[in-house]
Amino acid sequence: PRMSTKRIVVLGAGPAGVAVAIGLRRAGEEVLLVGEPRRFAAVEGVSARVLGALHKAGFARAVRCFAPPSQRCVTWDGTHSRANWESLVDRQAFDRAALEDARSVGVSVVTGRIVSCASAVNGHHVEVDHDGRRTTFAADFIVEARGRAAPGQGSARVRGAETVSLLQYWVGPPATAGSAVESCADGWVWMAALADGRRYLQLTLDVATAALPPKRELGAFCRARFDTLETARPFLEGAEPVGEPHARTSTPVLQEEVAGHDWLRVGDAAMAVDPLSGNGIFQALSSALQAPAVIGTLLHDPDRAALARRFHQERIENLFFHFARIGRDFHAQESRWPDEPFWRTRRAWPDAQPIHPGTAPDDLQVTRRPVVSDGRIVEDDVVVTPDQPLGIWHVDGVRLAPLVRALHACGSQTSAEAVLRAELGGDATRAARVAAWMREQGWL
Ligand code: FAD
Repeated sequence: PRMSTKRIVVLGAGPAGVAVAIGLRRAGEEVLLVGEPRRFAAVEGVSARVLGALHKAGFARAVRCFAPPSQRCVTWDGTHSRANWESLVDRQAFDRAALEDARSVGVSVVTGRIVSCASAVNGHHVEVDHDGRRTTFAADFIVEARGRAAPGQGSARVRGAETVSLLQYWVGPPATAGSAVESCADGWVWMAALADGRRYLQLTLDVATAALPPKRELGAFCRARFDTLETARPFLEGAEPVGEPHARTSTPVLQEEVAGHDWLRVGDAAMAVDPLSGNGIFQALSSALQAPAVIGTLLHDPDRAALARRFHQERIENLFFHFARIGRDFHAQESRWPDEPFWRTRRAWPDAQPIHPGTAPDDLQVTRRPVVSDGRIVEDDVVVTPDQPLGIWHVDGVRLAPLVRALHACGSQTSAEAVLRAELGGDATRAARVAAWMREQGWL
């Protein structure tokens, strides 16, 4: 790996911050990761695909904190299903293990509360409080990964309906691990049980219309709500709430600017959507995995700085709208309360665009776009479609833009397979594979 003398400081050690820090180390950069452990207990669930992605990103210890996959019972629009599986994790344990994963690859870790981050022309100064003792660190480059707690939430470019999730922690006898989700007239509930008897019940409501009680009555309010739910019964049996509920904001937010010449926002600090699709950790990871190439380009290849910023900005926006639309379609599947404010606003936001617009052969366009090559952002020809607005560069190790150009040049006189075979140096097997993939995408 290339070595660098620039000092990069990552603010916040959740999944996004840790993923960027590990990625930067793997690229030979010097990284300091500063964070304080999250202050509240929470259980979250991810799919098998996310576990695989975490493993690949270097979260070997953190991945071991997940419980074996358990069933997720879904009660939505009045029907029950048990088709889904998810792996549950105690987020505090996950975050602690992730910090160890970062340390193990040579990331310098500082634990403490970031109290300020001052930026000047020649760099940044990060002030950290460790139990009353203050230290200042100089940085050439800052990665903002403090999640929803990152400064700047007020200047978001896009904000969905204000949403709050009330988390109540219960303890009961050991039980079969599992989770359940159920829609109600004014929101939805997610419940999780770990095998050791810990249970997390989470009520998500519309801030403007929920009529929440004063803070000291929140516990009783949550309890009364869960008591009315048939599906909550297995989670409440023999169990009692512990402590006060914790309120987490879950409003979708997209920041105005997510990349500067010496800073980058990743994870929830860049964009966060509704927890309904249960994809937050995956999104945090997605936005963080390409960040090392963006940062490497900004630090070492200033001629391509604008390109690198554009790349990150477009990826984040695309990710935000993709997951916002997935959330919209989940909300739209609940049809029993179309006039309730919670459902009315969320089933129509952010727009009416389908998640995967169909692609016809005439839609294909070849344009120059930023792509990741050998750990840097460069520009090359890609194929843009309504479904892939950022463009596709390679498939199966084959650059697609020259193939689409050749197909366009030949018109319909020659068969697509023959054109592709000629372009691929006569490799008929490969041409057939690429043609099959293109047909599947609606390109042929
Ligand atoms: P975070 O995980 O928030 O990490 C930020 C880190 O920065 C934290 O460790 C924090 O302590 C630290 N930090 C913040 N401020 C400071 C400071 N001043 N000084 C030092 N450190 C600081 N996702 C899923 O995949 N599955 C789920 O089931 C799921 N359920 C959710 C339920 C709710 C109610 C909500 C709101 C979200 C849920 N998510 C879920 C989303 C998921 O929690 C986030 O998307 C994900 O954690 C984002 O990762 P991150 O690294 O960007 O931010």
